[in-house]
Amino acid sequence: MNIKEVLSKKKYGGKLSKEEIDFFVQGYTNGDIPDYQAAAFLMSVYFNGMDGEETAMLTDSMVRSGDQLDLSVVKGIKADKHSTGGVGDKITLIVMPIMAELGIKTAKMSGRGLGHTGGTIDKLESIEGFSTELPLDVFLKNVEKEGFAIASQTGSLAPADKKIYALRDVIECVDSIPLIASSIMSKKIASGADVIVLDVKVGEGAFMKDVEQARALAETMVGIGKALGRNVSAVLTAMEQPLGREVGNACEVAEAIEVLRGGGTEDEKQVAIELASHMAVGSGTFDSLEEARARVSQILADGTALKHFRRLVEVQGGDVSFVDHPEKLMEGVVGEEVLSEESGYITGMHAEKVGKAASLLGAGRMKKGDAIDGKAGVRCLKKVGEHVEKGEAVFLVRGERGVAEAKEMLLSSLRFSQEKPCEKSSILGVVK
Ligand code: URA
Repeated sequence: MNIKEVLSKKKYGGKLSKEEIDFFVQGYTNGDIPDYQAAAFLMSVYFNGMDGEETAMLTDSMVRSGDQLDLSVVKGIKADKHSTGGVGDKITLIVMPIMAELGIKTAKMSGRGLGHTGGTIDKLESIEGFSTELPLDVFLKNVEKEGFAIASQTGSLAPADKKIYALRDVIECVDSIPLIASSIMSKKIASGADVIVLDVKVGEGAFMKDVEQARALAETMVGIGKALGRNVSAVLTAMEQPLGREVGNACEVAEAIEVLRGGGTEDEKQVAIELASHMAVGSGTFDSLEEARARVSQILADGTALKHFRRLVEVQGGDVSFVDHPEKLMEGVVGEEVLSEESGYITGMHAEKVGKAASLLGAGRMKKGDAIDGKAGVRCLKKVGEHVEKGEAVFLVRGERGVAEAKEMLLSSLRFSQEKPCEKSSILGVVK
């Protein structure tokens, strides 16, 4: 077999065999297949797709490209969540402490920002001293002893995904169902959790722009999980406007702490409660979603999960004074207001544009390996449904660069009406 035969078959829309998929995955992971041929392979998959069986074989091959975490040494059910990528998505930082309060263990491998979307690892690194590079033995020990650990995807876990993910980012090849499904599921399977809840984002700020596409992605991922014996479900959640008010890194950590203290916006609370409730029911802690939602809402309202977030920071070497005084996260940052050019109700705030504006300010990467500015980002002073007067501040931008361009992009993200829009739920469906 040679790579040109595989490329030719996929270029004409053929169905690849397990051997051909393994040949590509192994060859690219070990460096035998160069980036340009891998890019051609990925682009052919992007345009010609893969059926369910091929996507499952691709996932399996990516899992086998490296080690798998053996969480069986940790007693009890281990739950995990993963988002398909959003703007202002700080839900992991809220859900992990809720799980700890419920006595459910979480072993979380997270990523960095991808395209216009943020990554939990970049966010956590804005807490001074917080280590996201945990050796596997320490990671496992923390899950066992403390009930949680969060780390950046290690080199040995689904290394094929690490390489393919970085290449997809720079060749504009992200929004493809087989590629997203295999990327996420290979990491989740290799990380070993018993219960996996996927947050499939839908809308202008998501890779899946409508509910049909998102449902197809969710069904593909749930199908792969089931075929491999895992308890996987997916919740479809809205990503039309940014989640919450903050988009960036340090500012999102501060907002997550606010939610854990009983504050926060309705959309982020709704999504956090729904995902945590599905994880809790999947883990057998509650018999029904209603019971789980009631308990999780109470945990958020009375602030009891905050102590677990503080402990997570402490255990991973972070300075807990950032949790006790979250204003320290954005210390010294003033920001510039962005003033509305129209009066009316905000009916739309294009989340992808807000994410791109945050990136321009330094919160994300323009090219592979760029350093990010942890304090850069955008605060949405208004949310969809709120009224604004011409000349009133709608956003606050913080960053050392790209300010003019970011401001322009933010203003172009807004849509107005003189009528107050109806409130919409952030929960758009479930796939089991
Ligand atoms: N998150 C991932 O881990 N992979 C993707 O392809 C998209 C979002």
